[in-house]
Amino acid sequence: MEITNLTRRFGGRTVVEDVSLSVMPGQVTCLLGPSGCGKSTTLRLIAGVDTPDAGSISVDGRTVCDDTSRVPPESRSIGLMFQDFALFPHLDVARNVAFGLSGPKAEIRARVRAMLDRVGMGRYEKAFPHELSGGEQQRVALARALAPKPRVMLMDEPFSGLDDRLRDGIRDETLDLLKEEGAAVLLVTHEPAEAMRMADEIALMRDGRIVQRGAPYNIYNAPHDLEAAAFFSDVN
Ligand code: ADP
Ligand code: MG
Repeated sequence: MEITNLTRRFGGRTVVEDVSLSVMPGQVTCLLGPSGCGKSTTLRLIAGVDTPDAGSISVDGRTVCDDTSRVPPESRSIGLMFQDFALFPHLDVARNVAFGLSGPKAEIRARVRAMLDRVGMGRYEKAFPHELSGGEQQRVALARALAPKPRVMLMDEPFSGLDDRLRDGIRDETLDLLKEEGAAVLLVTHEPAEAMRMADEIALMRDGRIVQRGAPYNIYNAPHDLEAAAFFSDVN
């Protein structure tokens, strides 16, 4: 996925300014920055639920958004895992994962089963979301997001609702599955430690701009400025 000079203004205020990023298949790029710096807005622009004032987005060499054209969200080959993008409460686990899949019924059923087995939720096909723990819901949400084989996966603080005891395990399992599926992953977080753990590349964001990009340890060892250094200071 290639993003070029993405800009979004609300009223007179520029919330996302000239953001350029590229994410390769099988790689995790972390968009890291403090609360309010424009991370979620950036993801919403990429997902297509909001429209940029300027800039372009392409997936697999195909332009999905620029000044003249705009591909609808469901046709962008982009999967979403957002904190506030919960499972459908009125659908059982299997139907949640099948949602948005198209094709012959037998193939859909096979894909749903394979994804649920892969996240260790194979026995819960008939369960409803409210019968599951937070961690289990998270696994189902991951299966649902990856079921259509998206080329790009956008994740907005997907682990922040989980308690510490579960978080590391689910984080590592999620990472393994994402790499296996070969999606290009853009993961948003405000926690430097999470970015250090998950990212192949970190893009450090502040006040709507990318201030530094690089491999986690390069950024950690050579932060752009004092503010970036302070931001990383509690990682060990
Ligand atoms: P982050 O995800 O990094 O915490 P956001 O992208 O959610 O930050 O928000 C960045 C800034 O843009 C915030 O100041 C927020 O209030 C503002 N903002 C986001 N969406 C809107 C909107 N629809 N209208 C006006 N301001 C918005
Ligand atoms: Mg946010």
